[in-house]
Amino acid sequence: MSSSDENHLHDGRPREWYGDGVEFRCLGPECGECCSGKHGPGAVWVDPAEMQAIAEALRMPFETFTSKFVRLVDGRYSLVEKPNFDCAFYEAGKGCTVYNARPRQCRTFPFWGRILRSRRSWEESGRCCPGINEPGAVVPAEEIRNYLAGKAGEEGRQAKGGQAGRSQP
Ligand code: SF4
Ligand code: SF4
Repeated sequence: MSSSDENHLHDGRPREWYGDGVEFRCLGPECGECCSGKHGPGAVWVDPAEMQAIAEALRMPFETFTSKFVRLVDGRYSLVEKPNFDCAFYEAGKGCTVYNARPRQCRTFPFWGRILRSRRSWEESGRCCPGINEPGAVVPAEEIRNYLAGKAGEEGRQAKGGQAGRSQP
């Protein structure tokens, strides 16, 4: 028999703690915390289509792009980092230099399943992203559900020039 707790309903289904929406607004390239290495190393996962899109944005042959900017992390493809752990495409004060071709991971931050699984993980992510809980910038539950269903994120919510959200590998 299931019992309810902070994160689950009586029948075991996850509780939608964000039913009234959440507050988030990207503070733009002036922030850039999620693309920088300020919080340590990370990973920006990319699939072949995303690699191709960035290679095209850089007007670079696919093979040249992958040898220069893609690495394997735990058997998955990720963009490389600079020695200070910044994403290879992040420039301080300027933001993402491949913004229009940035991967889905970057377009959908912070509306990821593992961040939205509980209010606690949302609040914890707020330590790295000052846009989380930005007063008055409400993202409705419907939009959050679309992110979780993979139906949103092509335009992203981030301000032009910022930003992403790098997974810890
Ligand atoms: S998503 Fe968050 S951490 Fe990234 S630039 Fe915007 S406010 Fe800053
Ligand atoms: S948005 Fe993504 S690709 Fe662009 S700098 Fe940030 S982490 Fe890198």
